[in-house]
This record gives sequence, structure tokens and C-alpha cells, in this order.
Amino acid sequence: MAPVNLLDHDLDALTAWCEARGEKRFRAVQLFRWIHQKGEGDFDRMSDLAKSLRDKLAAQAVVQALPVAGEQASADGTIKWLFDVGGGNAVETVFIPEAERGTLCVSSQAGCAVGCRFCSTGHQGFSRNLASGEIVAQLWFAEHQLRRRLNLAPGERAISNVVMMGMGEPLQNYGALLPALRVMLDDHGYGLSRRRVTVSTSGVVPMIDRLRADCPVALAVSLHAPTDALRDQLVPLNRKYPLAELMAACRRYLAAAPRDFITFEYCMLDGINDAPEQARQLIDLVSGRGAAPRVPCKFNLIPFNPFPASGLKRSPRERVLAFAAILQDAGIVTTVRRTRGDDIDAACGQLAGEVQDRTDVQARLTRPVIRIEPQPQVRP
Ligand code: SAH
Ligand code: SF4
Repeated sequence: MAPVNLLDHDLDALTAWCEARGEKRFRAVQLFRWIHQKGEGDFDRMSDLAKSLRDKLAAQAVVQALPVAGEQASADGTIKWLFDVGGGNAVETVFIPEAERGTLCVSSQAGCAVGCRFCSTGHQGFSRNLASGEIVAQLWFAEHQLRRRLNLAPGERAISNVVMMGMGEPLQNYGALLPALRVMLDDHGYGLSRRRVTVSTSGVVPMIDRLRADCPVALAVSLHAPTDALRDQLVPLNRKYPLAELMAACRRYLAAAPRDFITFEYCMLDGINDAPEQARQLIDLVSGRGAAPRVPCKFNLIPFNPFPASGLKRSPRERVLAFAAILQDAGIVTTVRRTRGDDIDAACGQLAGEVQDRTDVQARLTRPVIRIEPQPQVRP
């Protein structure tokens, strides 16, 4: 029987796995802490586990990291890793250091089936879902790699926030996403608070409801258009779950959490969705008609990051700022996302670990890993 990848298991699943082998729950907790808190993948080095358990683990389990196929560092401290997920596919993970936090942008799928007009991942089509362990492996690798590089003291963390904003639509891979989120939140795992883990979705309405019931982390919704006519063109999933249903799902998501808010992401496309009139339509959209109160929300305007074949242009800065001002004047907190890592194609929407041209993928996968020196400013 093939060994199981322990990165696939949240603590409850690991406990069940251990109990099925005659081991008590506290052993599962110890094992889970070795893996996620200490970054240990070698059972022999888990010194406080009984030899009998270590032997069972060595025979039946592995901690399966993803092979690193490439690494690039941006002048601004952003680091992008390319992970080989087999079959000629690769996914990308991006670390974004800021003064007060370190954010890891994690992928959920190789490719994406939603096919948004402005997204490089969408243009390449869908290859496959990642397993939970492949989602967790991105965090496991990045956290422990960065701790070593930055010489962090025991207990210090490199990554304080996770955003599921890499390649793929996380809510179309819900079965794998949920255990991975639980590992991120678990106090014996990465101990991230639910407000520091963000799931970003293009609007898979039934799964927004599931997430609310199972694991209500911070929610970002990729809006990009104020009307169904335009959103149908930009985000094809809108034809299945139009704006009225999406807004209703956002309201339900927040119903039980009065201090929470939805982050609406809005990619600014020159001449397409950046007119003042469209900002006013957005205000109407989130304000609701009739008796509905406004959806508690923030807007995050993302200047479009161009990629070959998109045929689209970034909105000029003045238009982005004017758009932001209209939302702000209506009392909606609005930020304009600073573009990070665009010199290494690590900015939003530029991630394309798998491309149609397989020869290019092979070239990327065999390219030697570029080692970079620790950078003081990377420290969150
Ligand atoms: N599939 C999810 C999460 C991954 S995309 C989603 O769509 O929300 C993460 C964010 O990057 C989304 O808000 C997406 O709309 C945005 N994005 C995609 N392509 C972009 C591009 N070329 N320029 C700027 N933002 C982009
Ligand atoms: Fe998929 Fe998100 Fe890209 Fe749309 S923006 S194609 S949902 S990854």
C-alpha cells in the first residue's frame, strides 16, 4: 500500500489515523506539532515519539513536500516559488513581506476552470485540483525555509497571513481546501487566526455557504464589474451565479459575524470597468435595494497586471484614484493594491505555473533553483 502523506491530514484526521493504529490522541498531537511547528519530515528525528510508533510511521507514512522547480526573488523582497506537481504541471506560491506582516499567497489548483478574461491562470485552462497536502506543503515549505534563512528565534513566525489568491479557484476544490484551512488555523499547526486566513473566490455561491458553516475565515470576493452584463463577460461563472445571488451569499456569510466584512476585489481595466458611473453602480450594488442594509465591505482596487495574450490594458493611475475617491466618499473603505513582485511575474493574475506550451514547462522545471541570500527587510 502506498504510504499516506501526513500533510493531507488535519488534526482530527491524523488522530483517527493514529487511533486506528492503537495510538492515543496525544501522540497525534505530538506528531502534528513536529510536522507543522518544527517543520520536521523525518520520523527518526521526532525524538519524543516511541520507537514503535516511529517504526509504524516509517513503514506507512511520509511527509511529502513538493519539489521546488524554481525560485525567484524580486527587488522588493517578494519571493516566488515554482513547485512541480507532476505530469508537467507546476503551481506558484508567493511570499510578500511587509513591515508588520508576512503574507503567503497559496495556490489551490493547477490552472483554473473559471477562465476570467483578465487572468493568466484562467487563460491556461484547468489541469487538476491540488490535494490538501499539496496546498499545505506550500505553507510548510515556505514557513520553515524562511525561518531558517532569516534565523528566526524559536517561536517567531515568518508567515502571519495566508491568502488563497494564487492559482486556481479555491471554492471549486472545497474538499481539499477545508482540511488545509484547518491545519492553518489549528493551534498545534500554524495557529493563524481566522481573520488572517483569506479565501478569495470568483463567486461559487453554494460553497460560500459551506465555508461559512465549516470554517468562516476572511472572505474576499472578486467582483470586477457592477452589472451582470459586464460581469458575464469578465468572470464567466457569473452566468451561473449572478450578482444578486452573490450579494445575498455575502450577506449570509456575515450574518453571524458582526465584526467581519467582505473584501471586494476589483481589477481595474482601462476603458472597461473603470468609469465613474461604474463606481456609482457598485455603491448601489453593495447598498442593496429596498430594506437591505449595505454589505459590510472594503474595496481593494487592483491595477490590472498585463500578460501576453490578454489584449487588455491597465487603467491609468488617475482613473483608479478617481474611482477610489467615489467609493470612499460613499463611506466605503477603499485601498489601491500596491503591485508587488511584478518584475518576477508574481503579481496578481500573472501566475501561470502551467502553460500550454509543454516544452516551456519542461524548461522551467529543469531550470536550476536560484538561491538567494536572506534579506533583512523580509522579516515581518
Ligand atoms: N480564483 C480566486 C483566487 C485567485 S485570483 C479569485 O478569482 O478570487 C486572485 C485575485 O487576483 C483575484 O481577485 C483575481 O481577480 C485577481 N487577478 C486575476 N488576474 C489578474 C490580473 N491580470 N491583474 C490583476 N489582478 C488579477
Ligand atoms: Fe480562476 Fe481566479 Fe483567475 Fe478567475 S481570477 S481564472 S477564478 S484564478
